[in-house]
Amino acid sequence: MIIQPKTRGFICTTAHPDGCAAQVQKQIDYVKDKPPVKGPKNVLVIGASTGYGLASRIVSAFGAGANTIGVYFDKPAEGARTASAGWYNSAAFEKAASEAELKSYSIVGDAFSDDIKSRTIELIRSELGKIDLIVYSVASPRRTHPKSGEVFSSVIKPLGETYINKTVNFHTGDVTQATIEPASEDELRQTIAVMGGEDWQMWIDQLEQADVLTDGATTIAYSYIGPEITHAVYRDGTIGAAKNDLEATAHRLADQLGATGGRAFVSVNKALVTQSSAAIPVVPLYISALYKVMKDSGLHENCIEQMYRLFSERLYSEDGTPVDDKGLIRIDDLEMKPEIQAEVAKRWAELTTENVYELTDLKGYNKEFFQLFGFETDGIDYEADIDPNVEMPNLK
Ligand code: NAD
Repeated sequence: MIIQPKTRGFICTTAHPDGCAAQVQKQIDYVKDKPPVKGPKNVLVIGASTGYGLASRIVSAFGAGANTIGVYFDKPAEGARTASAGWYNSAAFEKAASEAELKSYSIVGDAFSDDIKSRTIELIRSELGKIDLIVYSVASPRRTHPKSGEVFSSVIKPLGETYINKTVNFHTGDVTQATIEPASEDELRQTIAVMGGEDWQMWIDQLEQADVLTDGATTIAYSYIGPEITHAVYRDGTIGAAKNDLEATAHRLADQLGATGGRAFVSVNKALVTQSSAAIPVVPLYISALYKVMKDSGLHENCIEQMYRLFSERLYSEDGTPVDDKGLIRIDDLEMKPEIQAEVAKRWAELTTENVYELTDLKGYNKEFFQLFGFETDGIDYEADIDPNVEMPNLK
């Protein structure tokens, strides 16, 4: 079949297997060109198929030479439907890891469920013995609670007051006002249940009880802070409240794992084009402005550059892991440089539909959005008839 992008709002419902494989290979090549990371040996990545989780898995495997288990929620192709991008990414990763003689396994299913946790534990026991790094990088709109069965939905809304700011339709370049009404108490509760720390805590508890963690094991999850302009809808909104919960969980896990010399961190990462960030109003326009300013300053990074720097200069730095006054790892340091933020804020004030392509890198944003699904990738013939069915090597 000939696979072209089909979009519905901020989602693309098709993905290209060869394009996704090329994007994964590009990340692998980036890491292989860098000095090796003296890092983990056996790694579990929960949310491993796209974005920061995929990049963490690639750095673990190709930077540190680690065996990896990836847990993710993606679908294979069926009939006229292509597989999801995460499926194609993971198939490419599994193939490359096997060729590099690294042990590597995929578990596909709902990470929030007890079943997937038990299957993962069995797999660790039978294939790896114990793990020394657990990366928690799930981003999901929904969660079914494994004990109560309640289905929670997350919302991205401000708290207390209506939020009004500029936003962009990144397909057309139309800059308009987004108005977002404040969340209800129940929406806040549900968002914390989906994107907060409860599931991360459950994973660590169950892994610890099953005795599949090494003494000194490390765990990490990801957060975001960002600029003043997005605070009301992000950091001070429902999702920020969930991130506060995630960060509080890291402190608890640090005490829990600390008893055997282990560590737990939250890393604050840079704003990047991923399937999750495309769904947040205002953020794509901010990212476009940020990309322009960071590219012009030679400071731009994508997921893989961020994760390589996180592993080599923070998590596994020989001088220890530097954290801020709240105990957070800050790999968003370049994004948050005062001169970068000042320039973004200056552009933000002037932004309109007429000047959006001049003041921001909306073109770059759009291109990267399609690249998430394997499109707009050099060297791929998008007119070629290809088989969307790609088998997942090492699927457990
Ligand atoms: P993403 O959408 O690219 O990846 C999410 C991953 O979670 C995918 O592998 C997906 O398969 C998996 N997943 C979703 N639901 C699942 C489920 N029920 N079971 C198993 N796997 C499931 O997201 P991302 O942007 O890389 O975000 C990862 C983390 O990084 C999040 O905590 C996010 O808040 C944080 N973060 C993102 C940004 C950004 O700009 N994108 C910035 C800073 C921090």
